[in-house]
Amino acid sequence: MTLALSAEHEQLRKVVEEFARDEVAPVIGDYYRRGEFPLPLVRRMGEMGLFGLPIPEEHGGMGGDYLALCVAIEELARVDSSIAITLEAGVSLGAMPILRFGTPEQQQQWLPRLAAGEMLGGFGLTEAGSGSDAGSVRTTAVLEGDTWVINGSKSFITNSGTAITGLVTVAARTGTRPDGRPEISAIIVPAGTPGFTVAKEYDKVGWNASDTHELGFADVRVPAANLLGERGRGYAQFLSTLAEGRVAIAALAAGLAQGCVDESLAYAATRESFGRAIGTRQSIQFMIADMQVRAHLSRLAWRQAAALMVAGEPFAQEASIAKLYSSEAAMDNARVATQVHGGYGFTIESAVGRFYRDAKILEIGEGTSEVQRMLIARDLGLPVE
Ligand SMILES: Cc1cc2nc3c(=O)[nH]c(=O)nc-3n(C[C@H](O)[C@H](O)[C@H](O)COP(=O)(O)OP(=O)(O)OC[C@H]3O[C@@H](n4cnc5c(N)ncnc54)[C@H](O)[C@@H]3O)c2cc1C
Repeated sequence: MTLALSAEHEQLRKVVEEFARDEVAPVIGDYYRRGEFPLPLVRRMGEMGLFGLPIPEEHGGMGGDYLALCVAIEELARVDSSIAITLEAGVSLGAMPILRFGTPEQQQQWLPRLAAGEMLGGFGLTEAGSGSDAGSVRTTAVLEGDTWVINGSKSFITNSGTAITGLVTVAARTGTRPDGRPEISAIIVPAGTPGFTVAKEYDKVGWNASDTHELGFADVRVPAANLLGERGRGYAQFLSTLAEGRVAIAALAAGLAQGCVDESLAYAATRESFGRAIGTRQSIQFMIADMQVRAHLSRLAWRQAAALMVAGEPFAQEASIAKLYSSEAAMDNARVATQVHGGYGFTIESAVGRFYRDAKILEIGEGTSEVQRMLIARDLGLPVE
């Protein structure tokens, strides 16, 4: 048994590695400093087919699998996390819900452009009062004849305000269940629909070249046919999308953790102190060795979760384990790599300075570390609190 990549996946990995090294690395620092979404790079990724990796060819995709998507995300994150999360959110949160739950008409309408990277989709679950407790969304959607009327707001929605954002899938209360709990459904809201507003970009600690906005919905009217999947199944759909997304976030974290090793190896070989390269010191070598251990284990964890997923086996616990471990490994590696780089590591001119800022969100987004521990404990049969 091995978790090595197939020849096709390895070929893809090399292509993305070259793209990240030759086209992303030279320019991403400037986008990051300016807090600007790197549209030309995203367009290039579209041309390369990265946004269509796990989308079937009949919908304009590359006909690959989710593992391929994760391979690409990991390679991008070795160089930069903003570009990696743009791909992760664009595919895993933007396109996959439409692929998994959409009607043939919805798939035909949206997937070809999403798969080509000509358009980005957002995933609107989180609200000011509802994050980890995602079932407590307050946004409402009322069916008036053949129109949904949506009111409410969403917080921190990735890819929701770019020049190529085409839609946001919104979780909204559409009624009350017989047991008194809210009925939650998912509804596709096209960008530009009257009443749908996009607030200014958040001033984030990291992921500064990725796009994140608060969204408002004031009597937003969309056709009844924009319901994604079954009415009342929205919460379950969002949870299953997030379970898949965790594998992709784990791959992103593994990439960041590996990027810390890459950068530290290069810096330790050239930076001299007391007449010798710092990489000749055992303390620095041990830091780098420990970083490599964490990056390696992170990679094994996400690959195993992805292998189960693509084989159609249960993978939720493995996805949570991979996300929890690799996000904490990314944080540890970012802290240690910054230490290896000394003062230079504390600037955002250095890649590790950006890694340091970018790592923290990995312990928060798509389910915090505490939520992952809760899910793992529950899966082990421990009582729900
Ligand atoms: C840059 C960025 C991009 C994002 N992109 C998206 C997106 O595209 N779409 C989207 O829908 N959301 C998005 N999010 C939101 C993200 O998923 C949430 O921030 C995350 O789920 C945590 O929710 P919260 O911020 O409300 O924190 P809270 O849920 O308020 O958690 C606060 C703290 O309490 C802990 N906690 C909460 N409940 C429990 C409990 N029962 N037991 C123990 N501890 C608990 C948490 O672990 C955390 O430490 C994004 C966030 C950021 C910052």
